[in-house]
Amino acid sequence: MKLGDLGEFGFIARIRAAARPGPGLCLGIGDDCAVSEVPAGELLLTTTDMLLENVHFRRDWTSPRLLGRKSVAVNVSDIAAMGGDVRHLYLGLGVPVHVPVAELDELLAGVLEAAADYGADLAGGDTCVSPGPLVISVTAEGTIARDRVVQRSGARPGDAIYVSGTLGDSALALRELQAGRTPEPFLASRHHDPLARADLGRRLAGERLATAMIDVSDGLLADLGHLLWASACGAKIAGAALPLSPPFSAALAADPALFSLALGGGEDYELLFTAPPEAAAALVHLAAATGIPLSRIGTVVPAVDGVSVTDRSGHLLTELPSGHDHFRGRV
Ligand SMILES: [Mg+2]
Repeated sequence: MKLGDLGEFGFIARIRAAARPGPGLCLGIGDDCAVSEVPAGELLLTTTDMLLENVHFRRDWTSPRLLGRKSVAVNVSDIAAMGGDVRHLYLGLGVPVHVPVAELDELLAGVLEAAADYGADLAGGDTCVSPGPLVISVTAEGTIARDRVVQRSGARPGDAIYVSGTLGDSALALRELQAGRTPEPFLASRHHDPLARADLGRRLAGERLATAMIDVSDGLLADLGHLLWASACGAKIAGAALPLSPPFSAALAADPALFSLALGGGEDYELLFTAPPEAAAALVHLAAATGIPLSRIGTVVPAVDGVSVTDRSGHLLTELPSGHDHFRGRV
């Protein structure tokens, strides 16, 4: 069956039947608006992220279920980067008429599976026919205690710079796919099925450990640049301290030029944050408690000192890879 046979309202009825509203949601799918309540003393966080076929994904490289999961994770990652708790998701779909309904059901199952993983409810959305590519637009709402919001602007000279997990895995997988090769399974899962650092972000904010935070979606240096710009600071980054996974390290040993993917590759969905030196012991404890490695990769310096990055051997890099910019080079 194709979407054209089912019709928009038939498809919405399918989504409504699959999505069960949880606590905190007064009214979910089925009216003109969702109605929800923000707990007393908390603020609402809202973010939106779009995945566009042949720009962000190819249907022959991934599965509808993983696509659904990823469309949720990339939004939850932004809520995590503020330190919040994700609560509601809104799903917008632009669907080419030729896409089988079975594929949409799989995509929806992936969305609902990821929503359940992160404790969020699918609270609404919109669907329409797309004359072009498949478009998946997810909006996420989260909440956070009024005095716990972590912005990009809070870094100060002397703060240490940390990143969670490992860098470059997703970009390396994408490079393999683009070269017509099958990525190593761990790298492939980092690209197709990234996990948002939801619990880590909440704890970094809740325990007041992070002074500034951002998630790594455009590449380490690009996202560091956003954070430093907002904080009006510079940074020194030690390339030797960048956390790399075993499969990435193995590939790097064969081709040292791949180091640029750890610095500039996108879609890691790790948390990049700054913390005062006195938070070091608490961060070691938090890494152990969450099981997520936290690596100190550099130091915040005054803006006048700019951004300097060394390679794996400690030599200053004179040319830095740029991160992902959707508009650059397209006009
Ligand atoms: Mg972000």
